[in-house]
Amino acid sequence: MAELRKEPIAGRWVVITTDHPKGPSDYLPFKPPYRPQEPEGLCPFCRGSEGLTPKEIFSLNSEGKGWSVRVVPNKFPFFHIEGEFDRRGEGMYDVMEAIGAHEIVVEAPEHHQNLASMETDQIEKILIAYRERLIDLERDLRFQQFLILKNYPGVFNRHPHSHIIAMPVIPRRIDEEIWGTLDYYQRKERCIFCDIIKEEISVKKRVILETVHFLVFSPFASLFPFETWIIPKSHCPDFHRITEEEIGDLSAGIQSLFLCFYKLLSDPPYSLALHTSPVQSRFHRPEYHWHIETRLRIGLREGFEWGTGFFVNPTPPEDAAAFLRGVG
Ligand SMILES: [Zn+2]
Ligand SMILES: [Zn+2]
Ligand SMILES: [Zn+2]
Repeated sequence: MAELRKEPIAGRWVVITTDHPKGPSDYLPFKPPYRPQEPEGLCPFCRGSEGLTPKEIFSLNSEGKGWSVRVVPNKFPFFHIEGEFDRRGEGMYDVMEAIGAHEIVVEAPEHHQNLASMETDQIEKILIAYRERLIDLERDLRFQQFLILKNYPGVFNRHPHSHIIAMPVIPRRIDEEIWGTLDYYQRKERCIFCDIIKEEISVKKRVILETVHFLVFSPFASLFPFETWIIPKSHCPDFHRITEEEIGDLSAGIQSLFLCFYKLLSDPPYSLALHTSPVQSRFHRPEYHWHIETRLRIGLREGFEWGTGFFVNPTPPEDAAAFLRGVG
């Protein structure tokens, strides 16, 4: 038997296999993540190779050791910063220039680092870099939406890095969440994310860990095995309004979660996305609630998902959370 669960925000249906679920141990051992081969000395993100990247936009230093986090423009961007915003029709189709910003956050000077092995003060610096870049990019009125993305290991370079993307449109995934949020707000005058947080804290079974300001949990209708969300417990639409205290607390939560993945699931490959409200007063949504979503990049039934738009998750989120809490 399987259970159809409705993901409450975007309203997507998910098939959760509950009868013969794939337990966490069915995924072990993971094949070691794909490690791109590259000549060490030539990595443009390593300390000492700064000349190989485009001009630095932002950096944070550690005392006496030079930079510890730096932000540079992506050499191969999805979006270009120069140009005019030009929306036009081509026959019946809509086209616009891909105006935007695509920056790379080099998360550490050392090549072999990851979120599970980093000190929390290093993770704090990465979060500060995200925040400061978003505050700066918000001044460009052409941008409506920011997205922070990370693939581990990286697709072209395994040096720890993440992407900051500023877009002239709101992508569909975030648009769906916004519509779900507004719909719920109109009916109940409450934030759906805040209600989910209350519900998850009261039922406990999908909670992985809790810090002072953040909840880390497996969503009720997880689309993927071990899908995990990190969400601020107090309502806030914008990631870049995060306080110093919350940054310290979030970095500890991130380190604990990725250490959990690393130890319990043998260093799995994953992707992480940070969703935050659109910016500029015309698009900003005070009802939205920023959060981080992570998914492990492990075998999925992509064909069925592609054909139906339904996700099939063979690992109930309650089992995933129990396993990651260490009681599975
Ligand atoms: Zn490197
Ligand atoms: Zn909220
Ligand atoms: Zn989201």
